[in-house]
Amino acid sequence: MRTKNRLEAKDSKYYKPEITHCPKCSEKLVYCHPVWRKTISTLEGEVKVINLGYRCDNETCSNDTTYRSAQAEHISMKHITYGMDVIANIGYLRFQEHKTRTEIMEILNEKQVKISDRQVQKLYERYALLLRANAKENAEGILNHVVKEHGGIILSIDGVQPEKGNETLYVIREVLSGTVLAAKNLKSSASTELMELIKPVMDWGFPIQAFVSDGQQSIRLAIEKLAPTIPYQYCQFHYFKDIAKPLVEKDRKLKTNIKKKLRGIRAVERKIDQMGTKTHEAEIAEDYIAAIRSVLLDDGKPPFDLPGMRVYERSKAIKTSMEKCRDKKGDYST
Ligand SMILES: [Zn+2]
Repeated sequence: MRTKNRLEAKDSKYYKPEITHCPKCSEKLVYCHPVWRKTISTLEGEVKVINLGYRCDNETCSNDTTYRSAQAEHISMKHITYGMDVIANIGYLRFQEHKTRTEIMEILNEKQVKISDRQVQKLYERYALLLRANAKENAEGILNHVVKEHGGIILSIDGVQPEKGNETLYVIREVLSGTVLAAKNLKSSASTELMELIKPVMDWGFPIQAFVSDGQQSIRLAIEKLAPTIPYQYCQFHYFKDIAKPLVEKDRKLKTNIKKKLRGIRAVERKIDQMGTKTHEAEIAEDYIAAIRSVLLDDGKPPFDLPGMRVYERSKAIKTSMEKCRDKKGDYST
């Protein structure tokens, strides 16, 4: 049974490239088109991820590279609709806990990850393949192409920790092509161990334009030691998102509550529809309904633009306006 096409994502997440300015001319990059979008099933639920492509808009600049978010690439793997966290978990359950694929399927289904035992098998194979990815020959063709097109590769490093395991699965990717270059389970996340993972990839000799990672200090240290002269960009969005998590959660609840209250407009709408001739009041009410509808569709982009706060501010403005309108009318009541 195929379930992957039936995923329904609740949230859309947009990712921008970590590199914000053109490495050639320093101009700010501008949005051009989504590089890819897909619905990914993670341990935290289903999410629609959109990786936004940005490029240099400076006409006198020769750089025509489309930059994408490394963080978005790290959520899953090419051609796979399950998150890296699910893949890492399957690897852990199979290798460390010696679970069968049916057991793994059951464990994941319990966590609300819809998966069949065949898909577990497929992902387990991908996991095993991932750990053997550390070979120059596998990636050489793609990397040569990236260097020819863009003048160099961009490397990103990220760690995924299976829930219970004490190992972290570290993955190195080339960002411009989204290719996995190396992956390894590390018991410790010390920078010396990370250096051992990163160095062989550097030794392949492809020109490296930049490194990208989240703010994890040991990764930063490892890169600083290995490549002090290569630009390093850590994902600020990821960093801010982490500190903003509790706030974003509260904001989400606020939004849900307000939206629930605003749903009463349907009853008002029906009432107006049932009226034979529309009164002036009904017309005013219709205008308000339209305004409320647009509030219900409104959305922000956390952590900087909080959707709940936005909905709150806008519905408050509508309420004030309605109250003014009612006061003017005196006995107006609906
Ligand atoms: Zn440029």
